[in-house]
Amino acid sequence: MFLRELTAPAGTIRGAGKKTAALLAEAGIPTVAALLTRYPRDWEDRGRSAPLRDWAKGPVSTTVTVLAQDWFGSGPARTLKVYVEDETARAALVCFNRPFFQYELTPGKRCRLWGKFRYGYGELRSSAFEIEAAGGEGPGIVPVYPLSAGLSQVPSRGQNLLRRLVRAALDQYAGALDDEIPPAVIASRHLLPKAAALRAIHFPSTMEELAQARQSLIFEELFYLEVIIGRRAMERRGTGGGPNPAPVGALGEKSPPPLSPLQRRLLDRLPFALTPGQVAAINEINADMDRGGGDREFEGTYAMARLLQGDVGSGKTLAAFFAALRAVDGPGETGQAGQDNPSGQAAIMAPTELLARQHAENAARLLEPLGVRIACLTGGLAGRGSPRARLLEALAAGEVDIVLGTHALFSRDVTYRNLRLVVVDEQHRFGVTQRQAILAKGPGSPPHLLMMSATPIPRTLALTVFGDLDISVIPDLPPGRKPVKTHLVRESNAGRVYDFVGKELEAGRQAYFVYPLIGDDDGGGEGEGRAGDGLKSAQAMAEKLRTEIFPRFPAALVHSRLEDEEKRRVMERFRSGEIRVLAATSVVEVGVDVPGASCMVVHHAERFGLSALHQLRGRVGRSGERGYCFLIYSEREVPPAPPEADPGSPGGEGRSREGRRLMVILENTDGFVIAEEDLKLRGPGRIAGVEQSGYFKLGVADPVRDADILLAAREEAFAALEADPGLLSPENRRVAEVLERAPPFSEVGM
Ligand code: ADP
Ligand code: MG
Repeated sequence: MFLRELTAPAGTIRGAGKKTAALLAEAGIPTVAALLTRYPRDWEDRGRSAPLRDWAKGPVSTTVTVLAQDWFGSGPARTLKVYVEDETARAALVCFNRPFFQYELTPGKRCRLWGKFRYGYGELRSSAFEIEAAGGEGPGIVPVYPLSAGLSQVPSRGQNLLRRLVRAALDQYAGALDDEIPPAVIASRHLLPKAAALRAIHFPSTMEELAQARQSLIFEELFYLEVIIGRRAMERRGTGGGPNPAPVGALGEKSPPPLSPLQRRLLDRLPFALTPGQVAAINEINADMDRGGGDREFEGTYAMARLLQGDVGSGKTLAAFFAALRAVDGPGETGQAGQDNPSGQAAIMAPTELLARQHAENAARLLEPLGVRIACLTGGLAGRGSPRARLLEALAAGEVDIVLGTHALFSRDVTYRNLRLVVVDEQHRFGVTQRQAILAKGPGSPPHLLMMSATPIPRTLALTVFGDLDISVIPDLPPGRKPVKTHLVRESNAGRVYDFVGKELEAGRQAYFVYPLIGDDDGGGEGEGRAGDGLKSAQAMAEKLRTEIFPRFPAALVHSRLEDEEKRRVMERFRSGEIRVLAATSVVEVGVDVPGASCMVVHHAERFGLSALHQLRGRVGRSGERGYCFLIYSEREVPPAPPEADPGSPGGEGRSREGRRLMVILENTDGFVIAEEDLKLRGPGRIAGVEQSGYFKLGVADPVRDADILLAAREEAFAALEADPGLLSPENRRVAEVLERAPPFSEVGM
């Protein structure tokens, strides 16, 4: 029997009476399984001795004699205080809500005592202690359970009650428990069998055994997580392939498929060579796309689902254009557009209008000369008027090959003749439903899906949340890029930043100034701040930049509330160099490419997420000229460093979270490292909407903390699937239930 099948009421445990059962039910522990999976929140090593004198070094564990009792307060707040001593010191036990100790802790009694002590009111005291008559439970490692509701009324008794019941339940039931992962895996990974792991997580005989028990239970959870992921991968690829055990860098030994005719012509026209990372990504995409999907005529069920990760400026757009050309061309050099294999369409979706236009302009410049028909479809296209209607007709008739746009690409009234590829840029901005709408636009089998992200998803998360996607990484930047020089600047020193930027402007370069608010009356800004917090706004500062700070250089303002047409015009003038100073909100965060810009100044940097700051920084230094990023922080929000820390540094241990976060940006240039740090500081739930995924409702496992175990579990789960697809059969009770709970592939989105 499996642990979760122990659905007998907790009242069936020997020694648990009606009253106890009711108490447990109230505390959310109705069944034996619920009791046994209420894992301890901590363990006390009672064999360890730590006398009262050493209270400052950690929890005390000692034998004491009761000296006297006293009461303080009055009425219902009347509280018992018990004085005790061991060989080293005296202390007071403050017995909040534990008046019954007046009968148990009588003067002269010898007791074992555990607890955290501190010094206050002229005495050593504790209210968080446990005590029991000497010769009771005795030494050993004792679990400390999370208490809730009725149980916490009587802290030490609640603990003692749970300990007694868990012990009894283990004796009564654990012997019959079945292992849930294959015995061979248990042996080869040095795990404990289920029953032993369960016993040891509650009552370990050594700290080593406890560690092994935790490992075992964590492994089990992650093993099944990976089984789910592996199964999804198999489904997506059809039954033949088995899950891909090496999701990163997939191509392996095989030689890459040849470029299609259009791809070859684009390559020949490029003024630069592709980076090795771009080449590898394009090869992987080509191999995927040759395997089917999109095309109604094609027999196979395989559709690409690939996540293309690459730091800001690594040239993902170009890789996407190559993919789009292959969709238009049909597979390989041998693929022929014709009746059997009509030329396909590609849709490239960007999160903002600004970015969609930029992509469309790039596509027009690079691809139209190849004879490819490009169009741009955004929400803002002349209302519902005729240009839009004409464009929709053209899409439906297959007269447009590559369409770029925002989510408007997937509005209900948009139909495609032969949509073979969907590229989603900066995919974390798109929600679950949007992803489903996209997949529904395929004519027969779903189109290939390429998602691109410059907010690097840490590998550990990628393996869980995106574990059923293949991943390509462009690890390199185009040659000649110098890392952006980053400075943290106190608000009171902003003047020096203006001086520096002034010199850059003199030298013919351009600068971004980014603010957390649009205007001073701003309710929500672009999501980073609120008016009234004393924050600078883009509107107010644009005026100041233009009239006071840099009166000699043309400045402009861009934010999300501008008309799309206006936004586009401003960006175009900034791109062309006509405008030299751009005041903006975080709308410029993602993707915007202005090669002449050398300075990025972010005000109230402490308000922005790490990944957002990294993105903003990636907007400059894109032309081979040195780029500079100034992160201006408010001293009010980021307290100054302690004297021993690096002067001017807002970070360091013991500093505010904001300070530590800014230091991460200062010290790292690699977006992946920054994302990992962000993850550590904020927890997985806050990253890119991961909280929606439902994957993180794990019990003991934490995919980030337990990354090593996750990788091992993944290896074993995929090997097990490969060897025995029956692992997925409905007859496998454990797996069947896990699968039922898990959201389907298309719902795990961001
Ligand atoms: P991101 O990966 O952040 O989306 P982009 O696609 O915007 O990056 O590319 C950044 C810039 O680098 C663009 O101006 C693009 O033209 C240029 N670029 C792309 N690939 C190369 C390359 N192989 N060599 C030189 N420049 C490149
Ligand atoms: Mg981009």
